[in-house]
Amino acid sequence: LPDGPVRTRFAPSPTGHLHLGSIRTALFNYLLARRTGGQFILRIEDTDEKRTVPGAEERIIRDLRWAGLQWDEGPEVEGPYGPYKQSLRTMRYREHAEQLIASGYAYRCFCPAHELRAKAEARLKQGLSTEYDRTCIHIPAEESADRAHRGETHIVRLKDPTHQPDFRDLVFGRIRNETRKLAAPAFEDPVLLKSDGLPTYHLANVVDDHHMRITHVIRGVEWMISTRKHVTLYNAFGWTPPAFAHVGLLLDAQGNKLSKRDKAFDIGVMQAQGVLPEALDNFLALLGWSHQDGQGGGKSHNDFMTMADLERKFNLRLTKTNPVVNL
Ligand code: GLU
Repeated sequence: LPDGPVRTRFAPSPTGHLHLGSIRTALFNYLLARRTGGQFILRIEDTDEKRTVPGAEERIIRDLRWAGLQWDEGPEVEGPYGPYKQSLRTMRYREHAEQLIASGYAYRCFCPAHELRAKAEARLKQGLSTEYDRTCIHIPAEESADRAHRGETHIVRLKDPTHQPDFRDLVFGRIRNETRKLAAPAFEDPVLLKSDGLPTYHLANVVDDHHMRITHVIRGVEWMISTRKHVTLYNAFGWTPPAFAHVGLLLDAQGNKLSKRDKAFDIGVMQAQGVLPEALDNFLALLGWSHQDGQGGGKSHNDFMTMADLERKFNLRLTKTNPVVNL
């Protein structure tokens, strides 16, 4: 358990309804904040306009409130607070991308999208990786700035370091990465800013977690592949990364990942069927987790814990390290 009060966040993209797995992630963030006397934040990651589903944000807010997971701050001074919304903060991300270009950690890429696609397909056919060939990394800074100034379409890419950082995960332990061999030609150079000037998930997520002073990032294990990119970004900005805790995916009885389309695990459907929020929170908190004074965890556990009990007893260390948890 962390020493002092923590700041956690739940950062859903409004691309569909919340399912059990996402409510569980939100619950863990909420409980760790409550347990340590810290704060829990809701941030809507809505910078991918093509994937945004109308009405999804309102549903997420309603479902979280129904589950009793009220967040502690937001853009309005008076409560109940609204969530932070990334689409209203786009200037901030652009400035940070510029900052990384100036400090040499990022560069503008002017390759037309169709060209990139064609190159990737050709490489794929040859059995090579589809990573970017770094054509634009060689453009001199002045020329790059000039072309951008004249309005030439471009994206901004992070320079992948040769030595990818390791990081420690509070659930999975030390996550090591093989060192990229200098001779290896392909670098991923993740996109930070898209050609429409909007940030990608990586940039917006890191900039916000830093500025919102998030101390603990608790999220689904499916995001673990992004964490090295994020740590690279923290290093490039000269910021200290938060602690990371990736939690296992929930699988249905057939062993499939729960999907946003699966009605059986839709929070709205559960509400309609009369599932009580306390029962759901209790079930999710004890699934793949056991508190100190109980032997087992998960389904075999008979105790019912109220939200107040959970807030007092929750401890991230007791979260099972299985990458998957079967329902
Ligand atoms: N926007 C991501 C999602 O939809 C957030 C992942 C994270 O917590 O960093 O789950």
